[in-house]
Amino acid sequence: MADQPYLYQRRELVEPDWTRLPGWAGVTEREWDDPQWQRAHCVKNSRQLRGVLGDRLADRFYADLERDQEQRATMSMLLPPQMLNTMVVEPMAAGSAFTEAFYADPVRRYMLPVFSDRRTDWPSHPYATRDSLHEHDMWVAEGLTHRYPTKVLAELLSTCPQYCGHCTRMDLVGNSTPMIDKLRFALKPVDRMDAMIAYLQAHPQVRDVVVSGGDVANLPWPRLEAFVSRLLDLPNIRDIRLASKALMGMPQHWFADDVRAGVERLATTARSRGVSLAIHTHVNAAQSVTPSVARAARAMFEAGVRDVRNQGVLLRGVNDSSSALLDLSFALLDGAGIMPYYFYTCDMIPSSEHWRTSIATAQELQHQIMGYLPGFATPRIVCDVPFVGKRWVHQLAGYDRVRGVSTWTKNYRTSIEADDPEALSRTYEYYDPVDTLPAEGQAWWAEHARTSVPDHLLDAVLAAAASRDAAAHEATDPATASLGGLSSA
Ligand code: SF4
Repeated sequence: MADQPYLYQRRELVEPDWTRLPGWAGVTEREWDDPQWQRAHCVKNSRQLRGVLGDRLADRFYADLERDQEQRATMSMLLPPQMLNTMVVEPMAAGSAFTEAFYADPVRRYMLPVFSDRRTDWPSHPYATRDSLHEHDMWVAEGLTHRYPTKVLAELLSTCPQYCGHCTRMDLVGNSTPMIDKLRFALKPVDRMDAMIAYLQAHPQVRDVVVSGGDVANLPWPRLEAFVSRLLDLPNIRDIRLASKALMGMPQHWFADDVRAGVERLATTARSRGVSLAIHTHVNAAQSVTPSVARAARAMFEAGVRDVRNQGVLLRGVNDSSSALLDLSFALLDGAGIMPYYFYTCDMIPSSEHWRTSIATAQELQHQIMGYLPGFATPRIVCDVPFVGKRWVHQLAGYDRVRGVSTWTKNYRTSIEADDPEALSRTYEYYDPVDTLPAEGQAWWAEHARTSVPDHLLDAVLAAAASRDAAAHEATDPATASLGGLSSA
């Protein structure tokens, strides 16, 4: 064969040696494989990070991390040992080379964001909002989002075993940060689940439930099993997907004997009733796919789940190259039997501009990854368009590349548009990161961002303005001054 733009090579998965890290030099394999040990040793602040990495990292990194947590972060820190162990896996002595490698590491770039990662010109898009997909607006019961005609999202809890810096549910998920006061569920978990089941009983057109959060790995297993069992008792529910990034972030949870046995009970019932039970996970970098992750996926297949699928996020500086996306997809497919399914463009939440890519970049990457993987395992890059839903990135109706405004249409009503006569004829807008636009487009945004809010986005923009008020104490910072000015329309 002639030279190809991407060279496929089968690679063995590698579990990096955690004893190379000073804080874990004495940790045994038995401890490492114990989910309770993993949970108890998660890194939640820079002091604990220093306890693991010590003086390998220069002081400036710890200061950069603390400044981000204080002034920019929409998510608090929570990093399982499993994930920290996949950063900078090459043997490397302490010093500036290690620090630079740590700064550049793709997993670090989205799990441990630092202040210097963020843009200072446009840290947030003018239309960025806390609940950018309006999932909360579409709640039909607390935590139950009904956006598409036949499927719902059930958010059972608001915590995860790991917190991703770019989390699209930053409005609700995780601990509050100095920048973001999180929403809190009002109902008790048992009442919330009762209300969800009652809605699904009353709406037989819903056939598909994504059981999510947060991450279902943080729900006590008996409670998750009870909820899924109730779903399995509903004749209209034909697809159940359990959403858990922990299959990668803390695989020890999923290969533990009690969880594996519980999944087997659910999968056996699902199979006997002709229901598809699958697990959806969230992996963004090939180095995260280790033998422990493959072991967790294998445990799920042996327990009887129909599939384990990956829904990654396309992130600038993490995986925005065809080689990174293909390396990850092959690691998932060859190494762990996980289906590379979707890559989402990063949603328009505050402080995320340095992670977001333009739609044009996403289209180009989709083109570049075609033809290497089997068709059924070629991930689709999708944009989750506010008020619309997932769209393949080539499905747009129009695209102003100077201002970075793409327009999209849809073919169904969400649960908040039952009486909206224009829901199916209106076009909906999505916005590229301003810094990726030509100078003319950037100048246009600088001039017009204050007054160009489309009516159907007004509520969302006002909500964003309210959240930014909470960050008003940063007004002396040039980056935030720009943000504050734009949001004061
Ligand atoms: S695992 Fe999912 S829900 Fe949890 S922080 Fe990450 S992106 Fe958000």
